[in-house]
Amino acid sequence: MPELPEVETVRRGLLAEVLGQKVLQVKVHRASVVRGAPKALCRAIEGQTLEGIDRAAKYLLFRFGPHSLLAHLGMSGKFVVTKAQEPLKPHDRVVFTLSDQRRLVFSELRCFGFLELLDPNVQHPRLAKLGVDALTAAIEPKALQAAWSHTKRPLKTLLLDQSPLAGIGNIYAAEILFAAKLSPLLAGNKLRPTQALRLLEETRRILGLALEANGTSISDFRRVDDKTGGFQEFLQVYGKTDQPCRTCGRGIKRIIQAGRSSFYCPHCQKL
Ligand SMILES: [Zn+2]
Repeated sequence: MPELPEVETVRRGLLAEVLGQKVLQVKVHRASVVRGAPKALCRAIEGQTLEGIDRAAKYLLFRFGPHSLLAHLGMSGKFVVTKAQEPLKPHDRVVFTLSDQRRLVFSELRCFGFLELLDPNVQHPRLAKLGVDALTAAIEPKALQAAWSHTKRPLKTLLLDQSPLAGIGNIYAAEILFAAKLSPLLAGNKLRPTQALRLLEETRRILGLALEANGTSISDFRRVDDKTGGFQEFLQVYGKTDQPCRTCGRGIKRIIQAGRSSFYCPHCQKL
């Protein structure tokens, strides 16, 4: 699933390609990828110019004049820019015809991703719940500690919560905890101030490096130009079950936490 660095890579790719384009027509080929009424989305966006694209954690926000469109890539969603005469592919779900004879296409194989026209008067409940963006991790170590001081839930699960830090998913949670030398099993209320500081520093560093590498392509993630990201070359623990830890040489372990795989080195990330 695309996490913060992948979504930011998509945002930057889209800005370079389609910012300032007017949308002549919107066609929804699969209504289930649109939250709300597809017709209302088409009516609102047709004739509008794309004035900006923002990101909130793993969400993209397309700004078209008075309207905003929220997008989530789900498991395998992607945006591609094609020439207007190119034939559509089977998983092309929503097609925006642009004023420069190209198309912006939202393609989604498994249909977990979605587009939704935002009501300008109401804060979207999904956005309201988000904590600070994990790329800046602009939160004091004390505040992070305080947020987790009443919970025994483990760090790995807490990092996936999207609050107080937003944008981290399964891959980067594993990599950040390894870099910070913290066990994924450590209870939130046991986090010490120095550990909280290290966790925030490594969150910024790992996500920054992943962004420089244009994200991680394990299976589905593709950039706007359909190229893969490069951070999979730098993964230390994610998906490395039984492979030697690059720090100590002992085997990487895989465990299940809250139904998701966690990868870590029990020696370097002691409880
Ligand atoms: Zn190790």
